[in-house]
Amino acid sequence: MTTSKRAPGEFNVNDQVLIARTKNPGTDHNQYVWVLFCARRLDNGDLCGNLYGANGSDFHLRKCPSCQSGAAGLGFDKLT
Ligand SMILES: [Zn+2]
Repeated sequence: MTTSKRAPGEFNVNDQVLIARTKNPGTDHNQYVWVLFCARRLDNGDLCGNLYGANGSDFHLRKCPSCQSGAAGLGFDKLT
């Protein structure tokens, strides 16, 4: 499995922030669930703030399931 150098705090092109990398298996081959946070501004000026899980391999292009019509988020265990 390839190791990603992505670290928490990184943004992708869609204003999704990597919060944490979990050991929960993702839905893609050899992938773990990463926890992402949506830092997009909505039309009313509020921060979206949606927190959801996604395959690590999808991070660079992931869209928010709440405000960008991205794929539904994956489940993950509580962060410790
Ligand atoms: Zn959002």
